[in-house]
Amino acid sequence: MEQLTLIGPLNQVIPMTGMPIKGAVSDSQLRIIENAGILFADGLIKTIDSYKKLATEVKDLNVKLIQLEGNHICLPGFVDSHTHICFGGSRARDYAMRNAGKTYLEIAEEGGGIWDTVQQTRKATKKELIKGIIKRAKQHLRNGVTTIEVKSGYGLTVKEELKMLQAIKEADEQFPLDFVSTCLAAHMLPRDFNGNSSEYLSEISEQLFPVLKKEKLSNRVDAFIEKGAFNKSEIEPYLSKAAEMGFDITIHADQFSVGGSEVAVKFNAVSADHLEASTSNEIELLAKSEVISTALPGASLGLGCSFTPAREILDAGGALAIASDHNPGSAPMGDLLTQSAILGTMQKLTNAEVLAGITFRAAAALKLQDRGKLEAGYLADFNLFHTANFNEVLYNQGAFKPCIVYKKGKLIYNKHNS
Ligand SMILES: [Zn+2]
Repeated sequence: MEQLTLIGPLNQVIPMTGMPIKGAVSDSQLRIIENAGILFADGLIKTIDSYKKLATEVKDLNVKLIQLEGNHICLPGFVDSHTHICFGGSRARDYAMRNAGKTYLEIAEEGGGIWDTVQQTRKATKKELIKGIIKRAKQHLRNGVTTIEVKSGYGLTVKEELKMLQAIKEADEQFPLDFVSTCLAAHMLPRDFNGNSSEYLSEISEQLFPVLKKEKLSNRVDAFIEKGAFNKSEIEPYLSKAAEMGFDITIHADQFSVGGSEVAVKFNAVSADHLEASTSNEIELLAKSEVISTALPGASLGLGCSFTPAREILDAGGALAIASDHNPGSAPMGDLLTQSAILGTMQKLTNAEVLAGITFRAAAALKLQDRGKLEAGYLADFNLFHTANFNEVLYNQGAFKPCIVYKKGKLIYNKHNS
C-alpha cells in the first residue's frame, strides 16, 4: 500500500456530495466541511474529517503530513467535458473578420472557418499536435481542470482522424491530466471528399470505427448536427452504427438551429452540447431524458451570441454541465473558471449550480463515476484556493485561480513554484 498522506488544515472543503444529478440546486444544499483535513492513499480519498481529529488519529502511524499555512479552501478537480484542443494553426483572422461584420459564409469564402483548421491540422505532425495539446492542457491545469475531454474532427479522413486521436492518447500518457478522447469525424463534410455526406459518414463508420475499438483510441462518437454540417437523416444511420458498436454518443446540438437535441434524446446520448438555440420544447425533452445538457459559454463569448438557456434547463429539471469548448475558431479563450462564472452571472445560476456543472455533473457527461466529488473512494483530484471562503472563487470571475492542484494524490501544480 502506498503511503497515507494527510493534508490540512483547510478552512473549508466543499465535497459536492449529496446533491442531485438533475435540476436546480440552492446554495444551502452545498455541504461545507470546516477546519478539515483530507487523508488519501493510492490516489484515492480515504477520509475527510476534522483536521485535528485526523491528525490525532494518525499520530503514531507512518503518515506523510502536508501542513498548510494560511487560509485555504478545497474544491474537487474540475472536469472540462467538451474541448477541441488538438489542432494546428490559429483563426485570429476569423475573429477580426467576424467582429468587422463579415458573415460566416464570407469568412469561409476567404479561406477561414473549420476548413482552414482542417488544413493546418493535416499539415501538422503528430508530434506537433501533442505539443499543442499539452501547451493548452497546462492552461487548463492552471484553472484547476484535472480531467479534460478532447475531440478529433480536424482531420476528416480516416488517416488524419487517427493521427489526431493517437496524438490525444499520447498526450494523455505524457501529461498528468486525464484526457478523454472523442471521435468527431462528423464535424463537417470535408471539401475534398469525392461524394456526399452519407457516403462520407459510411466510409468513416466502416473504416475508422473498428480501428478506434481495436487500438482503444476512443469510446465516444460525436456529431455536429446543424445547417451546413449534418442533418438528421444523414446522421442517424451513422449514430446507429456507433451505438451498435458500443460507442457512447454525444451531440453538438441546437447551436444555431434546433434538431440536434431531439436526435441526442432519441439515441440516448450521454450529452447534448451547445443548446444556445433550444426552445422550451427542446428543454422539456432534454429534462425528461437522462441526457446531460452542456452549456459552452466560451462559444457564446467568442461569437458574440446568446448564452445557453441554463436557468431554464435547470428549472425544467435538466442536468447542466458547463464546459469550455476550447477551440481555435469560436472559443479560443479556454478558461473554464472565467466562462462558468460569467454564465452564472448572465443566467442567474447559484454558485452550487455552477460548481456542480464543472464537477460531478460534467463527470457524468463523460460517464466517469470516480471523480467530481470529494469523498472516500473517489480520486484524490482536488484544488486548493488561497482564501477562507469558497464564494470568493466564482465571485472573482476567473481572475482567482487555484494555488495548488492534486491529481490522483500527486501534487501536479503549485502556483508558488511556477
Ligand atoms: Zn464543440
